[in-house]
Amino acid sequence: MKYDAVVVGAGVSGLLSALVLSKEGKNVLVLEKEDYVGGNLRTYTVDGYTVDTGVHAITHVDNGPLTKLMAEYFDVIPKFTPYGNYFVRTKEKMVPFPWTALDWVNFDILPQKDRIAITSLLGSSVAFSIFNNVDTNQSIYDFLKNQDFSDRTWKFIDTLSYFMSGKSMRETPMWRLLKGARYREEVESDFIGDKIMGQIASFGKLIAYDGSYHQAYPRAGAGAITDSILLSMPKNKVEIRTGETVTEIGGVDKVDSVSTKKDSYDTELVVYSGFMSSLPSLSKNLPKDFTHQLSTLEQTTSLTLWLGLEAKLKEFDYLGSEICFGFDEGKHYWAMPTSNYNSSFAPKGKQLIGLTSILEGDPKKEEKRVLETLYGIIPSVEGRVGFKHVQTTVPEKAAITVGSQFPGSKSPIDGLYLVGTDTDVRSMGVTRASFSIISLLDALKKDGRL
Ligand SMILES: Cc1cc2nc3c(=O)[nH]c(=O)nc-3n(C[C@H](O)[C@H](O)[C@H](O)COP(=O)(O)OP(=O)(O)OC[C@H]3O[C@@H](n4cnc5c(N)ncnc54)[C@H](O)[C@@H]3O)c2cc1C
Repeated sequence: MKYDAVVVGAGVSGLLSALVLSKEGKNVLVLEKEDYVGGNLRTYTVDGYTVDTGVHAITHVDNGPLTKLMAEYFDVIPKFTPYGNYFVRTKEKMVPFPWTALDWVNFDILPQKDRIAITSLLGSSVAFSIFNNVDTNQSIYDFLKNQDFSDRTWKFIDTLSYFMSGKSMRETPMWRLLKGARYREEVESDFIGDKIMGQIASFGKLIAYDGSYHQAYPRAGAGAITDSILLSMPKNKVEIRTGETVTEIGGVDKVDSVSTKKDSYDTELVVYSGFMSSLPSLSKNLPKDFTHQLSTLEQTTSLTLWLGLEAKLKEFDYLGSEICFGFDEGKHYWAMPTSNYNSSFAPKGKQLIGLTSILEGDPKKEEKRVLETLYGIIPSVEGRVGFKHVQTTVPEKAAITVGSQFPGSKSPIDGLYLVGTDTDVRSMGVTRASFSIISLLDALKKDGRL
């Protein structure tokens, strides 16, 4: 059977592609290798607790690409709750994340002399990034290596790098830190001209800013975004087949078919949303330089522990999330008490906390390190854990590292388009996936396919 378009993968990028294509009048087939849809953006229930696939905060909900897509293509929109605050927790205390220069001055988790140096460096690097092209090959460490920071400050900078990109300060580009913490604005206009407003805003942010204001969490869980996409699809225009792994995207100069172990489908338009690093094994006629470009993309694997606490703890009595800054042998993690957003996520009187960290070795040992760090920092948690659920996932299909080359939405093969978090460098996660769909739409229109 012939389809107007075949979408490979039913994560949020693939489903968004199917939604926009179907709403633009195309008959779309979606092929997903797993027995479920949603990829890394799902919410499900285990033993009475409702967990997401990893700890999620949705960024740019004020005016970002997802908002744009929701306004234009969604029939059902998830109900969002303001995200709350970001905190940094150490053994001694928990303080708000330093978004502004003044916050940095008061951020007494680090030695004073380092804070003063960081404040002045932030000011000059924002200025530099505005008036000069940012050196995309300069890592955070390269940028800062001549500073005489204490070990504690270096560890904090490294923790932030992992948080922003999934990689260490030696691999994370400096521009990612500036944009990830929104010291530099990251909106479409950054990439298509009209920079003046962004420049003024950047300086303003170092004076007064709360980087979490544009963030939100869907009340029904992160997977509510996936559910809304599914509910918005025109039923007679989209067919989703799960349990079908795509093994080949056929065609030499232009695509003509997609094959799975079960069947083959004719089409002249394919949107691929799987790992870009796997594309050369599916589309055999990609030019060598493009295949090489895809090989520069690096991944990070994350470990998420969901813990059900037998009682609500005052240490987790907030909306938002915390970066745990465990020193020495401790394992850094990002934690979020999700049942504070929706009490139905945990059985009555109990509390659900998600802790996501980077997986650097044996999952069992890493899990133990996270738990030991948590118990060391908040001893009252130990003995109160009545539920545990572990997830191992790849949060972004490509981490933003020095030297990585993201391919964009068009492949060199006519009719083969690319979406997902390893095609676009802007923002993170779901917002990055949404940026890739906006680029897809632009490319399809430019090519006269829409
Ligand atoms: C721990 C964790 C924390 C996160 N935190 C945040 C956050 O705070 N904020 C945020 O915005 N985002 C966050 N994310 C990221 C966000 O969930 C992802 O960016 C988003 O879900 C990626 O969607 P995707 O469709 O691009 O990729 P995926 O979800 O990976 O979807 C790709 C799909 O393609 C399928 N597939 C691959 N190859 C084939 C094939 N050959 N044939 C058929 N199907 C195939 C896969 O099975 C999968 O379903 C987080 C993710 C994780 C895991």
